[in-house]
Amino acid sequence: MEQPAAPLPNDFIRDIIDEDLKTGKNLGRVATRFPPEPNGYIHIGHAKSVCLNFGLAGQYRGTCNLRMDDTDPLGESMEFVESIIRDVRWLGFDWGDRLFYASDYFEKLYAFAVELIKKGDAYVCDLNADEMREHRGTFTEPGKASPYRNRSIDENLDLFARMRRGEFADGSRTLRAKIDMGSANIVMRDPVLYRIKREPHYRTGNAWVIYPMYDFAHCLSDALEGITHSICTLEFENNRPLYDWIVARLIEKDRPRQIEFARLNLSYTVLSKRRLIELVQKKYVSGWDDPRMPTVTGMRRRGYTPEAIRQFCQAIGVAKNDNLIDVALLEHCVREDLNEKAPRAMCVLRPLKIILDDYPEGKVEQIQCANHPQRPDMGTRRVPFSRELYIEQDDFLEDPPKKYNRLAPGREVRLRNAYIIKFERLVKDEQSGRIIEIHCSHDPATKDGPPADGRKVQGVIHWVSARHAVTAEVRIYDRLFRIADPGSEEDFLKDLNPDSLEELAGCQAEESLRDSAPGSRYQFERLGYFCVDEKDTKPGKPVFNRIVPLRDSWAKISDKK
Ligand code: ATP
Ligand code: MG
Repeated sequence: MEQPAAPLPNDFIRDIIDEDLKTGKNLGRVATRFPPEPNGYIHIGHAKSVCLNFGLAGQYRGTCNLRMDDTDPLGESMEFVESIIRDVRWLGFDWGDRLFYASDYFEKLYAFAVELIKKGDAYVCDLNADEMREHRGTFTEPGKASPYRNRSIDENLDLFARMRRGEFADGSRTLRAKIDMGSANIVMRDPVLYRIKREPHYRTGNAWVIYPMYDFAHCLSDALEGITHSICTLEFENNRPLYDWIVARLIEKDRPRQIEFARLNLSYTVLSKRRLIELVQKKYVSGWDDPRMPTVTGMRRRGYTPEAIRQFCQAIGVAKNDNLIDVALLEHCVREDLNEKAPRAMCVLRPLKIILDDYPEGKVEQIQCANHPQRPDMGTRRVPFSRELYIEQDDFLEDPPKKYNRLAPGREVRLRNAYIIKFERLVKDEQSGRIIEIHCSHDPATKDGPPADGRKVQGVIHWVSARHAVTAEVRIYDRLFRIADPGSEEDFLKDLNPDSLEELAGCQAEESLRDSAPGSRYQFERLGYFCVDEKDTKPGKPVFNRIVPLRDSWAKISDKK
């Protein structure tokens, strides 16, 4: 795993760990874990947790486990397990041989539950869900004890064993911790530890009809793995006393400690798994890997780099209070990283034909172009130039405003890496009035430098040779949601951005992009960063995803609306 070059600024979690190391707690060990439930694909919020947990292990020379928190059979699957493994690895982290499954602990967790019963700390309760809710009380009123609270230990042991054997109907009985129905913290009012659920589990099949609740399974899984710092998001703050209560009763020494941090909230984005599942199932997006999704697989397909995502997670840091991070920061990190790494290329999205009347027909020049303006180590490539070219439709205006420094009647413009050309005449479709082609002349003395007569030509535009260009499809992505905080006012689906995807067919890319490897990334001159789509690209038929524009165009677009 990569080590950070400079020491990271300390946050409150690192302060806690430093203190633990100073006092010799856990014998100087730092053991963390990333514990996803395999019921969906992981997203940028999970990436924050991944970077934090693996980052701490790296920084303190400790360990970080990858643990599937798979104790609720509903919705969990091997597909999700595999995706999580692939995504965490892609983010750049390595758990060695420490991949674990909470479902592997079912037998041990059952034994822990039996131990709690034997200590008089848990009981089998026959209240159904509604009755239990009635007994639970509210924030202002204490709860009422269940009539089954004082069953004998023997009766509890017998009933719990029979729950496991499948003698009782789903929901008819639970195992509950015997804590305090009068506690100010509702979590501590005899929480359920086990429930009956006849649901096959993707790993244990039909072996179990009772499943442990998250609060019971999670802390004990941590303890079984020797986790020292169990880092989770703020919504578990109220559950911490229960975490400590269970661990104090069942674990002798080296008890893990739960620490909560603020989850990532990102503007123009939803990060709730339930909502992401809804987007996929109702086909608002093409799948978990739709490049507009905030999932790791979606960001990968879009062309984001793991380095950029890690940089983002480092930049936002960890805090104790919930906040909303501007998605523009993530895009900024992506842009910064790609600016360094992405080779440059030319591609015309909306082609307009240019004919150089004074350029010999059949002649082809191979122009040597730098792949990166600041990085000679990235080499050069040959880009063919010929009499017929394509430029962008909006790089020509028939009646331009003064400041327009692209091509127009009577004007000259520089073709990137090539000649200065001059407008001569245009040809329109007689019926529609649409411009079909533009005839220009070129100044042969300007290929490698400014014009000899010192005249100024301001604009530089990109182009491709028509004969050599490869036809490509380009997908322009915008944010999936129209507003910064989707779902805050009404149904989040109503906040979807109807223009989040624009598919452009018939784009013309320079010849060198014909067989570019799926997944490779480029800066298309003047347009932004693009990635060769891994799924839909066919040999000789590239599909490009726009990763990010060169500048943040969102402000401009939203002004217009
Ligand atoms: P669910 O609501 O289904 O529990 P979840 O998003 O919490 O969804 P988990 O698989 O339980 O998903 O999460 C795994 C880990 O990732 C947990 O430790 C959780 O705290 C952390 N995590 C989840 N969402 C975020 C987020 N937005 N920011 C930071 N960490 C997160
Ligand atoms: Mg969770």
